[in-house]
Amino acid sequence: MQPPVQKNQLITAEITDLTHEGAGVAKIEGYTLFVPDSLPGEKAKIRVVHTKKDYGYGKVEERLEKSPDRVDPLCDIYGRCGGCQLQHLSYTGQLKYKQKQVIDALERIGGLSDVKVLPTLGLEYPWIYRNKAQVPVAARNGELIAGFYQKRSHQIIDMDHCLITDETVDEIIQEVKKIAKETGIPPYDETNHRGVLRHIVVRIGRETGEVMVVLVTKTNDLPHRKTFIRGLTEKYPQIKAIAHNINSKRTNVIFGETTKTIWGRDVIYDRIGSVKFAISARSFYQVNPQQTRVLYEKALEYAELTGQETVIDAYCGIGTISLFLAQKAGKVYGVEIVPEAIEDAKANAELNGLDNAFFEAGKAEDVIPAWHEKGIKADVIVVDPPRKGCDEALLKTIIAMKPKRVVYVSCNPSTLARDLRILEDGGFQTIEVQPVDMFPQTTHVECVAQIVLN
Ligand code: SAH
Repeated sequence: MQPPVQKNQLITAEITDLTHEGAGVAKIEGYTLFVPDSLPGEKAKIRVVHTKKDYGYGKVEERLEKSPDRVDPLCDIYGRCGGCQLQHLSYTGQLKYKQKQVIDALERIGGLSDVKVLPTLGLEYPWIYRNKAQVPVAARNGELIAGFYQKRSHQIIDMDHCLITDETVDEIIQEVKKIAKETGIPPYDETNHRGVLRHIVVRIGRETGEVMVVLVTKTNDLPHRKTFIRGLTEKYPQIKAIAHNINSKRTNVIFGETTKTIWGRDVIYDRIGSVKFAISARSFYQVNPQQTRVLYEKALEYAELTGQETVIDAYCGIGTISLFLAQKAGKVYGVEIVPEAIEDAKANAELNGLDNAFFEAGKAEDVIPAWHEKGIKADVIVVDPPRKGCDEALLKTIIAMKPKRVVYVSCNPSTLARDLRILEDGGFQTIEVQPVDMFPQTTHVECVAQIVLN
């Protein structure tokens, strides 16, 4: 069958939906046309730029009717930078969009049409929320640049300011760039795998104000090390740790295996609620601390702890959720794949005087079945997997372990829906899903679900 529109054709159409990547959707005789920078309810003259059998792409030539939810993006580089996708949508519109993303995924992928999905919990001020920036370094016309990747590309946009990043983090990134330029340290060139400085990573503990800087190089040594240390620590007393990470591989992954502390501590500290955390360079730590607290409190509510329960926290990172729950549970077991994060988790349990939390490094899908075999029983299992969701072996073990409740923290509604289907087929029921906006201005959707044993 031929698509009803051809390349270069100019059509007038209405936008009826928004994809999980933030593009508008127009339906032309049932054929799907993706139209970037357009919003549901808008009408536009659209130039068809590309067609495939089942779907195509179009570009707005003239907007005929504007959505009441359309706002002017605040950032100068919005549209070119790949970091944000929804600055042209009002924040209220973004929150509704995220709730709908969850509802649609549950229905379409999980076949779950009667689950209660609550309105998204948002921030009062949806800017400068990120506690971390990790910016790639490159050369342009012989000059060092650092910033964000452009949409769908590996071209870097030189950036001197990011509106969703903590201001101190932003400023320190600029300072590292300035020192790097002054020293003449060669920027990494991914096309020929030459050069030295690959990434600048800066993270702040928003409650403590402590900052860690990590310089990632291709080479084993960091040239001008002392200049970096002196320049940064003299100007920014809040820097408590500077690390050097070596990543000599041809890869998109930011960190390599070796991290050396070159100044100060190995960790910075932060607090979520009353729990204090040590965070090392390579450990995962949620990027939006204010909303992390909201998310964890919801997870705690869904766990319905009375103080006696045994809880398993799968994909525990540095033990954030585990320790949050350990305050209200009998015992908590955490498992996580990154060994440094598990070291942090153990230190964090001690730091908070919580002696009822136990941690093991390994894959959740290997370690939890082993615990099950050893006879460990769980009343509540919390999972917080990366975007690809839970491994099927883990879901099978959860079904076999029959905990009273499962709390699923998810950063990807599609894999959440897929996994909920498996749990439902294994005898569980999804009670409620709460989206929490961890990533304003972007299309990323985070949510937490309560699932109970039937
Ligand atoms: N619950 C933590 C971390 C969530 S992010 C928090 O809220 O801070 C997901 C974590 O899963 C990361 O720390 C990642 O390193 C870890 N991970 C990824 N694959 C894993 C696997 N197969 N088994 C266990 N942990 C894994």
